Amino acid sequence: MSEGHGHAQGHGHGHGHAVSARADRKLLSGALALIVGFMIAEVIVGFAAGSLALVTDAAHMLTDAIAIALALLAIRLAAKPPAGGFTYGFKRVEILSAQANGITLLLLAAYFVYEAVSRMIDPPEVKGALVLITGVVGIAVNLLATWLISKANRSSLNVEGAFQHILNDLFAFIATAIAGLVVLLTGFARADAIAALVVAVLMLKAGISLVRDSGRIFLEAAPSAIDPQSLGAELCAIEGVVEVHDLHVWEITSGEPAASAHILVAQGLDCHQIRIRIEQVLAERHHLTHSTLQVDHATAATGEAHCSDAHGAVHRSSITDVGRAPDPASPAH
Ligand SMILES: [Zn+2]
Ligand SMILES: [Zn+2]
Ligand SMILES: [Zn+2]
Ligand SMILES: [Zn+2]
Ligand SMILES: [Zn+2]
Repeated sequence: MSEGHGHAQGHGHGHGHAVSARADRKLLSGALALIVGFMIAEVIVGFAAGSLALVTDAAHMLTDAIAIALALLAIRLAAKPPAGGFTYGFKRVEILSAQANGITLLLLAAYFVYEAVSRMIDPPEVKGALVLITGVVGIAVNLLATWLISKANRSSLNVEGAFQHILNDLFAFIATAIAGLVVLLTGFARADAIAALVVAVLMLKAGISLVRDSGRIFLEAAPSAIDPQSLGAELCAIEGVVEVHDLHVWEITSGEPAASAHILVAQGLDCHQIRIRIEQVLAERHHLTHSTLQVDHATAATGEAHCSDAHGAVHRSSITDVGRAPDPASPAH
């Protein structure tokens, strides 16, 4: 088909995301140093006191340190520009790291449940005073680490993963300190196992949400704030749009959504102006600033598919006459 209007419209969408990765790195490095320092102290105290509980907890601290180190590595990789075959860059390494963090939390939770249950059945002798002291020091260290990480960019799934992990450890140390106090005052050794169970449930909760959120990104699901069905209907309601199909909304990495669609516009209208309008709607209403739109003119032959392998639903304007502008009434949003 031939159009009379010009085809030299500006096409602008930026890839600029001024995330203060350097500040995040500093904050995470500070948290990492704190945790590694405390972990070493915990190992020394644990061996000196002959306490298996403290050594086991130190092992858990080691996984925290690895999680933060991975987060730091992911931030570094995400800053690398797109090159070669990696046309999106390496931002999704962040999501891989968040998923690894989530899986680690789930595995540790399973281990703690097993350990707590066996300790409920056969409670070992617990040195309440040492548990209490270590728990209190752990609270102080984790408060500081949590505060440092909370100042970093938590809209990043990666930093959020590290934050959730450290936040859980804060609850772990509170539970440990309370258990230590109970053991010290009453000699009730099972308090230790009960505290471990509470912590395990918190870890399960954080792990599930991290695995679910990262899984959504890997499976190219739309960001949870955007419903592609209603978005398709909304785009169809834009004046001049006859049909929307092969609509995709996904996230390149957390907080960086993208969209693509095939758009059929009524014959005789300026398809470029309509595409610009669609880009505006996507950007202003849905923060979808990265869109790829294939815009074509609807043909008179109805029932003939625009393309053979479109994904998902076909959204049509309420006016089916392709020569006319469709109903301009847009749905309430
Ligand atoms: Zn055109
Ligand atoms: Zn692009
Ligand atoms: Zn583009
Ligand atoms: Zn198509
Ligand atoms: Zn498709």
